[in-house]
Amino acid sequence: MSQLQQEPGAKSGSSTDENSMQLSIEYIRELRILGVYPSAHRGYVMIRVKIPGGILRAEKARGLSLIADRFSTGELYITNRMSLQLHRVPQNDAMAVLEALEELGMTTRGACGGAVRGISVNTPLAEEAPVLRRFALRLHGFFSGNPDFEGLPKKIKIGLEAGYDKSRHLAQDIGLVYAGQRTGKSLYDIWLGGGLGRKPHEAFLYAEKVPEDEVLYQAQAVVNVYKRHVRSRRRLKLLIEEEGPDALSYYVRKERAALPVADEKPRPEDDGPSEFEDYISLYYFAGRLPADELRKLADLSELHCGGTIILIPDQGAALPVLKSDEKPRVLHALSEAGLDATGDNGRINTRICPGSHECRVGLSPTREVAEAVLDVLGQQKKGFTLAVSGCRNSCTQPQLADLGIVTLKPFRDQNGDSIPRFTLLQRNGSGFGKAVVENIGLEELLETVKSVI
Ligand code: SF4
Repeated sequence: MSQLQQEPGAKSGSSTDENSMQLSIEYIRELRILGVYPSAHRGYVMIRVKIPGGILRAEKARGLSLIADRFSTGELYITNRMSLQLHRVPQNDAMAVLEALEELGMTTRGACGGAVRGISVNTPLAEEAPVLRRFALRLHGFFSGNPDFEGLPKKIKIGLEAGYDKSRHLAQDIGLVYAGQRTGKSLYDIWLGGGLGRKPHEAFLYAEKVPEDEVLYQAQAVVNVYKRHVRSRRRLKLLIEEEGPDALSYYVRKERAALPVADEKPRPEDDGPSEFEDYISLYYFAGRLPADELRKLADLSELHCGGTIILIPDQGAALPVLKSDEKPRVLHALSEAGLDATGDNGRINTRICPGSHECRVGLSPTREVAEAVLDVLGQQKKGFTLAVSGCRNSCTQPQLADLGIVTLKPFRDQNGDSIPRFTLLQRNGSGFGKAVVENIGLEELLETVKSVI
């Protein structure tokens, strides 16, 4: 394996003796650029796999499911940026997993660390999605694994949207909103400097109706400006906070003017079905997708859906139905395989991060918190979205959910037990949700949820 050097003395492929040696914290940090992140559980790591455009081919899905069975918990976790995570990989097996993924043709490079993260298509079932996906793969091919765009102060998130419906462009470092076609070229509005975390910052509109080829240059200029002008461990939004949007626009335009012709590689992956008349969505609580289900999905997709699985925001998946009259047959096949295809039909959509179950900085057991809130909400609010984040990093975008929960620093009671505290956000209209109440315990949180819905 070319890019990954084993730490001296470390053994790989030995899940039975995972605690026999501890990899150094420094070494684990170095692994981040390869998508490896320390777990909340000593001796284990999390590995994040980029799924460009959210398109997963059946043969890769099968390979991933086997890796999850052999090296992880027999499950994969879908993130709300449509990547996949393997949890609790014994740290001494990390290199074996990376090698297996590389053999499958899958990319982890830049999925963590200071890099351009997985390019997300946040409206994967929209009519325009095939166009967005093709561009997402082009961007992925350009940025991913390119050393010129690594070693960034922190991360750059690029997201593509079919429109302004869910306002997700506001939370991206580079948000690209489809703005139609002109003389056969796709156009995008470019939004810059969005981000959540401790200090949420809404992106601003940098340029409108920019042709796709030019967007690629502008995105390159933004990443270069970020690398040069922003301090280590800070996001692009810091530059806007300190110098304002006009300064960022000025830097980017100047940088763009000096850029050489982009050195593009061919698009690296299949970009999924160019057209489908319908789809069937599948729901996975907290994104938990059992490996055996993934195998069944892969088989069904190959038989009926062109061999593609589409990962969708709110941590779900969908099978494209190429001709709508085939939908009953696909639904029947799913049911025969024991898979629940009720999708978002009457269900509350959820985005739930790993929290203290798996994440080293998680402050609450997010899945349990979400279950308690769902009990209060019932299941009647079709299309309603609940997002729960285990810390202020806000990975599940609680500011963009109808109800969002952010875990704060816990309070220690008289016995020294750690009691999580929460902020409840509610979103009405466009823009980020606002805090309804801050720094409260779980009981008060549940009471407040009852009172605001
Ligand atoms: S929000 Fe916090 S706890 Fe949740 S995954 Fe992100 S960093 Fe971890």
